[in-house]
Amino acid sequence: MNILLLGPQGSGKGTQAKRISAEYGIPQIATGDMLRAAIASRTPLGLQVKPVLERGELVPDGLMIDLIRERLEEPDAADGFVLDGFPRTTPQADALDSMLREIGRELTVVFALQVSDEICIERLLKRAREERRPDDTPEAIRTRLELYHRETEPLIEHYRTQGVLVPVHADGSPNEVFAEIQAALEQVAVR
Ligand code: ADP
Repeated sequence: MNILLLGPQGSGKGTQAKRISAEYGIPQIATGDMLRAAIASRTPLGLQVKPVLERGELVPDGLMIDLIRERLEEPDAADGFVLDGFPRTTPQADALDSMLREIGRELTVVFALQVSDEICIERLLKRAREERRPDDTPEAIRTRLELYHRETEPLIEHYRTQGVLVPVHADGSPNEVFAEIQAALEQVAVR
């Protein structure tokens, strides 16, 4: 199963991706985690993207596309993956479409996690207090949500057109959201 999660920051993408990964035995590919790991180990990529993440801006498409192309070639992704954080822009989505086409694969389902900005901001400020992520400052949070609406939200239409979009109510508890995802995955499995 090749699964993609779309949703604003604070919609619970990471939480749900981890649960899908554990339940179905497919790797979670979380670009934010990959970038933070690169920053922590001071790789050339990490040094380049550190200030971008701190400002809450988007890493250039070319860098992200190369990173994902390499990651999808890893053997653990051969039987499926759950992508969390990529694509975030139309050029990234187009690149993913052609990458998958090249290797004869397609997205099984794209979940759009739906939740209001108010709830997202509340959850992100809570995470900022608990985890002290450098990009969870109020300014960076505002930038990220604006960028989500401008650059990433149009992808919902992109995948609706492809017939793979499944909207999910993401304002409930993690268990409630996961139950909705599992119910949808069962439908996909019998299709
Ligand atoms: P959040 O979803 O809360 O913003 P992430 O951990 O998914 O957190 O991403 C953190 C940061 O990493 C983003 O603000 C952005 O700077 C960068 N990033 C992650 N994925 C992408 C992507 N696909 N394209 C551009 N930048 C990205």
